[in-house]
Formats: sequence, C-alpha cells, structure tokens
Amino acid sequence: MQLSLNLARSPLEGVRDALLEAFGPQRPKARMDPVSQLVKSSISHRTLDATSWAAFLRLQSEFQTWEDLARAEPETVLALIADVTHAEDKARRLPLALRMVEARVGWLSLSHLRNQTVEQARHELRALPGVGQKVAASVLNFSTLAMRDLVVDSHVHRTAQRLGLVGSGDPTHSYHGLMALVPDSWTADDLFELHCLMKHGLGQMLCQHDAPRCGACPLKAQCRRVGVEGARVLEWRPRT
Ligand code: SF4
Repeated sequence: MQLSLNLARSPLEGVRDALLEAFGPQRPKARMDPVSQLVKSSISHRTLDATSWAAFLRLQSEFQTWEDLARAEPETVLALIADVTHAEDKARRLPLALRMVEARVGWLSLSHLRNQTVEQARHELRALPGVGQKVAASVLNFSTLAMRDLVVDSHVHRTAQRLGLVGSGDPTHSYHGLMALVPDSWTADDLFELHCLMKHGLGQMLCQHDAPRCGACPLKAQCRRVGVEGARVLEWRPRT
C-alpha cells in the first residue's frame, strides 16, 4: 500500500516538504571518518544517543588509535561501553570487525568504499560482525564517505509503515522500500535530512510508538495511520 500525495512526484518528496516546513532544514554539521563512524554506529544499536556518544568518547580517550581498539581484549572494551545495550556482544564483535577490515584492506581504513556503488559498499560492510543494514547505512551516509544511503532506524521504520510508504515487514524491508522511492536527484545530504526529519522530528516528537500525536502532525491529511488503531492517539488541544 503506497501513500498517494502527488502522482507526479515521489511520495517521499511530499513527506520531506511537510516535515521541512514543520522542523526546518537538517544538514550535517560535521562528518566523521568512516572507521570512527563504524565504531560509533556499532555501539549505538538500541541505545540512547547520549549514552552511546558518552561510550564512544570513552573509547576515543582510552585508545590512541582505532588500531589499538582492534587489538583490545573484549573485557577492556566492555568496561568502557558497559552501559550500552548488548554491551558484551558489542565488546566482542567490534574489535573483531576492525581486525577484519585490516585483514581485507591491508590497514584500518574504509576510504576505498567511496569508489564502490552503494550496493557493493553495503555488501562489504554487512559481512562484518555486528553490522546490519542500519550500521552499514550510517557508515555510508553519515561519515565523510557521504554516499546516497538512507539510515532506517526504529523511528524511520515505524513512521514509514504508519504513513503507508512501505508495507509490513522488518526494518530491512522498509529500507529497501524507502530506497526505491528516493528521487534520483536527491544527494547524500538530502537522505541525511530525511532521516533526521523522520527520526528526530516526526518519530520522536509526534509519531511516538505508544501515543502518536496525530492531531498536531503536519502529515495528518495524507497519513494512512496503518497500525495506529491500537495506539493511544493523542489529539492536539490548543493552550488555554
Ligand atoms: S498522522 Fe499520526 S500516525 Fe500518521 S505520521 Fe502523523 S502522528 Fe504518525
């Protein structure tokens, strides 16, 4: 089932335009190198941003280089990232993933990915332990690689389904459905912006998991509200 906003345009353009009007432009302020982004994204899954950023800064402060992290014992890494979700798995997989990059490339770098297609680069990243579609897309789109890929986290997945942009399925299904709707003219920055608008604007401020605020939503006229029936929909009330 597809959201119908304007037959001449991708439905993503209508969503982007409405969210831009509500939340304003969202452009990247700084980009990390791709290995640093891999480290950050690998510890971020199902973890609050503030918690994962603090853990990332502890890793940066403990290890002079990411090569040192690649050779660290999992117990050492675990002590630094203990408060992120699934910390033991991440502490075991992250050094292993970095060593696999070194073994494949010859040194610890992911810069060569910019010479590949998004599909090739995604395939290579997903072969690393602990790297799913979200981590792979964030390395490709958020880092200095700045490639045309969309990060689909739980907020983007949920809101895309409720809007009717994608059908039922897991986040990987939503990722492929949304990527198929991306206009050819959109840049990596445009995809970064869509992610931010759907996550931080729509997903976290209005279309929350248990209580979507449909009455205040800039997409309320177009939204199919798929699966919202069971949620506690909060209607907007003017301040008195
Ligand atoms: S109208 Fe409601 S369900 Fe649809 S995107 Fe907005 S808040 Fe979510």
